[in-house]
Amino acid sequence: MYKQLFAIFGNPVSHSKSPLMHNLSFQGLGFDGCYTRYLLEDGTTLKKTFFDLGLKGINITVPHKEHAYNACDELDPFAKKVGAVNTIMEKEGKLYGYNTDAPGFLKAISEFKDIKTVLFLGAGGTAQSTSRILRDEGYEVILLNRSEGRLEKFKEDGFETYTFENFISKEYDLVINMTSAGLEDDSLPAPLEILEQVIPTAKACVDVIYGKETPFLKLAKTYGKPTKDGSDMLLYQGIIAFEHFTNHQYSFDKIEPHMKKAFML
Ligand code: NDP
Repeated sequence: MYKQLFAIFGNPVSHSKSPLMHNLSFQGLGFDGCYTRYLLEDGTTLKKTFFDLGLKGINITVPHKEHAYNACDELDPFAKKVGAVNTIMEKEGKLYGYNTDAPGFLKAISEFKDIKTVLFLGAGGTAQSTSRILRDEGYEVILLNRSEGRLEKFKEDGFETYTFENFISKEYDLVINMTSAGLEDDSLPAPLEILEQVIPTAKACVDVIYGKETPFLKLAKTYGKPTKDGSDMLLYQGIIAFEHFTNHQYSFDKIEPHMKKAFML
């Protein structure tokens, strides 16, 4: 057996925690693998780059998840349904695509009990996969987005959608920031007047951004709400990707303690 090579493709990609997460898991579990990062500028070259580099598997981050979807020869049914792939494995010369963001997110919010209605702030690529898996699990998902364009797909798929202009506030059990607002700036994902209507009645507030306390989570805390950032989502999507990378020879619980160490370093 030879050392298997893995990578994360993205642009930018230098900030990614994935190499540390996966390498700690390879080391801890004794798997002969190595995981690095690759700055992919042109998403249309994804497949060629994968084979040129002699990789066994990759994760894909912003902005290439749709290109990753198009590069695959075979798609897992859920990845096919949501049109986004964040994990690819090579098997006998073919590329197999999976989406581990959505099941990772589902597990991350499972600690909040008695949740029926979920308000998504944002309607981008991450909202696309996570909204579907939540609906499949019986949650009611409502989307509120800054602009109309990205809401079209959701509307066609039967979701209740709003922009800031036509939003009618109700009570939502969970309010989730699915936007990149607060990632590299100090902006809120929606106008303060709207957040002041939806946060006070929520049971908890969640942000998919990790590694910092966003203005959205800071605001939620002023109302005394339980909050959660995107670290667990990142960890869980990584564990599920690792299961694919290692052909399911390690269970979720065996991988978790090793991958978790990346969040202490
Ligand atoms: P996209 O680029 O696909 O979508 C961005 C969304 O954010 C759009 O709905 C956009 O609205 C909205 N938006 C951006 N800036 C603002 C702003 N200033 N105010 C209000 N709305 C804004 O991004 P993704 O869906 O891929 O990623 C979203 C977030 O999820 C990112 O912060 C990313 O880091 C995080 N993420 C976290 C993961 C984890 O493991 N924790 C995994 C994957 C993603 P509009 O349509 O109007 O432009």
